[in-house]
Amino acid sequence: MSSEPGQPVPTSVYVHFPWCARKCPYCDFATEPVKTNTIPHEPYTDAVLRELSFRAADLQGRELTSVFFGGGTPSLWDVKALKRALEGIEQAFDRVSDDIEVTVECNPSSLSRRHARELHEAGVGRLSIGVQSLRDDHLQFLGRLHDSKRAVATLEDACAEVPRVSTDLMFGMPGQQLDAFGTDIERIVATGVRHVSAYALTIEEKTLFGSLHKAGKLRVAPEDRYADLFELAQRRFTDLGWNQYEVSNYAAEGEESRHNLHYWRGGAYVGLGAAAVGCLDRGPGDAFRWRNEPIPQRYLAQPTHHSETERLGPDEIVREALMLGLRTARGMHLATTRQRADQDPWTGRERGLELAIQKGDLVHNGDWLRVPKDRWLKLDGIVRDLF
Ligand code: SF4
Repeated sequence: MSSEPGQPVPTSVYVHFPWCARKCPYCDFATEPVKTNTIPHEPYTDAVLRELSFRAADLQGRELTSVFFGGGTPSLWDVKALKRALEGIEQAFDRVSDDIEVTVECNPSSLSRRHARELHEAGVGRLSIGVQSLRDDHLQFLGRLHDSKRAVATLEDACAEVPRVSTDLMFGMPGQQLDAFGTDIERIVATGVRHVSAYALTIEEKTLFGSLHKAGKLRVAPEDRYADLFELAQRRFTDLGWNQYEVSNYAAEGEESRHNLHYWRGGAYVGLGAAAVGCLDRGPGDAFRWRNEPIPQRYLAQPTHHSETERLGPDEIVREALMLGLRTARGMHLATTRQRADQDPWTGRERGLELAIQKGDLVHNGDWLRVPKDRWLKLDGIVRDLF
């Protein structure tokens, strides 16, 4: 996201919490299972704050617009320790936006009503709760620690205590019926939730599901079933008047995740914590991306260690802007991308862009370039053809 010369640069912070009570068999996120009574709550906050001090020079001239505590399961983090991290982050910036968005990812198995209230009192205005399904057979298949009753109760409690609540829903489980998925959507919305991220179950290689699938021991839904479930979600949420503002995200009016929109628009973000990724612009056509040490114990000992770094030049910045921006309903903003990349987004891909526009895969409207929603099932291929 661009800012006027002399104005602070809008910047988000992502804090990764690298532990979960149990590793789900489909999950390839950077997270380790942990006995909850062994979590180093305060030492982890200390490490995050040490990393933040190390980045102080990079934070000059920036305005903090959102903080997202993701994971892993940050609802396992003691609220006092999380609050200390949040306060440290806010103090590290020259300016904090008046309507800063602070989100914490939670699991139903580690969130009580009291906990939700304490998080709100600590400055958290939004919870993102990993429900995944409201069918007990699907929850067992996914290796989740909660059942559907607990999931509904958690969403209702969260909505009673925190102004904004989102939940994740997964689709594509073997044998999943369209009407059962539709019922899940209705029951979720009835709890008061105003934002849903609906993701297809994907089989990742380095997971238990990946090994079982390779060995022919895991059944997955056929391709066309994924498409049917995706389109069913589109119809149901559209009927509710919600906006599918990104390929996997639906929101009631005004409930879009500002943190994620900032990211999809190519905004600057700082990653803190084990395995966190950050990317900061360093001037037109120049950005720096890093990934932190992913092993939690090593991160605790040395929180300023980068496991990977990458310099992004003009063409990489344009490619990222296309990949992320075209996932959103609004699309990619051409002028902003031109300014950030110091390069015209059309340069070197004129033919590909013009062909996609002719086929109706892309719509060029003023300063915006977008993929129409009825082509979103082919989105990955459309974007790939531009490179
Ligand atoms: S709770 Fe979430 S982050 Fe943790 S293992 Fe399961 S899917 Fe992955």
